[in-house]
Amino acid sequence: MAKATLIAIGNEILIGRTLDTNTHWLAQNLNARGIEIAQILVIADQEEAIKNALDWGFTKSEIIISCGGLGGTIDDITRRTIADYFGTYLKTHEPTLRKIEKIYQERNRPFTEVAARISLVPEGCQVLPNEEGLAPGLLFTKENTHQCYFVLPGVPHEMKHLAQTHVFPYIEKHYDSHFFRSITLRTMGVTETYLATLLAPFEQKLLPSMQLAYNPSLSSLDIRFSISTLEEKELIQFNTLLEELKNILAPFLFGEGEATLEEVLGNLLIANASSISVAESCTGGALCAKIISVPGASRYIHGGIVAYANEQKINLLGVKPSTLQEFGAVSEQTAIEMAVGIREKMGTTIGLSTTGIAGPDGATPTKPVGTVWIGYADAYNTYAKQFIFENNRERVIQRSVANAMYIVIKQIKGQKN
Ligand code: AMP
Ligand code: MG
Repeated sequence: MAKATLIAIGNEILIGRTLDTNTHWLAQNLNARGIEIAQILVIADQEEAIKNALDWGFTKSEIIISCGGLGGTIDDITRRTIADYFGTYLKTHEPTLRKIEKIYQERNRPFTEVAARISLVPEGCQVLPNEEGLAPGLLFTKENTHQCYFVLPGVPHEMKHLAQTHVFPYIEKHYDSHFFRSITLRTMGVTETYLATLLAPFEQKLLPSMQLAYNPSLSSLDIRFSISTLEEKELIQFNTLLEELKNILAPFLFGEGEATLEEVLGNLLIANASSISVAESCTGGALCAKIISVPGASRYIHGGIVAYANEQKINLLGVKPSTLQEFGAVSEQTAIEMAVGIREKMGTTIGLSTTGIAGPDGATPTKPVGTVWIGYADAYNTYAKQFIFENNRERVIQRSVANAMYIVIKQIKGQKN
């Protein structure tokens, strides 16, 4: 499989002012074409750094793509450094110069030395016209080693335009085109270590062209299964293995691709003609906001109440004072009464509640920070489930929101919670 080196050039990235989104986008788009990314380098606008990066690139890969440093200002040194690297010199690219002159005339701007410098290109390279900006892209090829180097501007929309019009078509033409497929299976309610153990026998069956990757986040554990191969018959094997993987993951699987918990929940509620309301303590409205963030949520969510203080749990949700007294606000009994209370008050099919200790204080000897109870109520079931999340307020809130939605998803699907 052809390999690529991506180089982001720019002091502004190294000081943390600009986030390098260019190589991220390029990596995604090259992976989708079956190109393996050997390395991504982020370097300064500095001669030695650029030359070293190119040495690395030509050692490790067939395809090199750099972005940044093509402006006309003094700090943009990519062009002349590259000319020097290839033992050539800069000369004016007439069509680019005329284009820049025309644009300056049209916009009634005085033509400057800085603008003229943008039309300087190394002798011997191919110039790639840039319809979205002034600086053209450049292409160097080494025929004996079947290597190529694309020089692109740093401005993201210009970089993308040149990649789409020149880089990707060139790569598709000159490098073996691979069959590539990638699918993301989204799971919840399971740890990475548990899944890794569960999937160990499955991983034994994978061909070298297949990859299984774990991507945990606060609201899901994503399993990405992909293949990049020259053999069409391996794709058939991939599809069979994918079905097997889905079966193994079935107890935890809530969606595929980009599907979010809140979207999956919304679709299930609609399919079941169900409605929902939420009573929140530790999540402070975050659960309600997340459910409502899906367009069309008015079809199933009636509303929510944030009852943070004990009195409000009593006044607004009908939690019994004796329950709070005996078991505390963070308890199974309170979570259940909150869920039942909101369901009755709002007249929905389902009532959902959260109560927990988000921290940093509020812990008791039996209830550490991160202890959360999520309550569920419908016409047939009322229960609450306990979670102990990590000691971080923001993450406790986010994990509570995700797990509350997941409890409803499992309940509607008829799976055990
Ligand atoms: P340059 O081509 O170096 O003059 O970059 C022009 C502008 O593009 C910079 O001011 C940045 O805002 C942006 N830029 C440069 N490199 C990147 C990158 N790797 N990712 C995202 N934006 C970038
Ligand atoms: Mg720059």
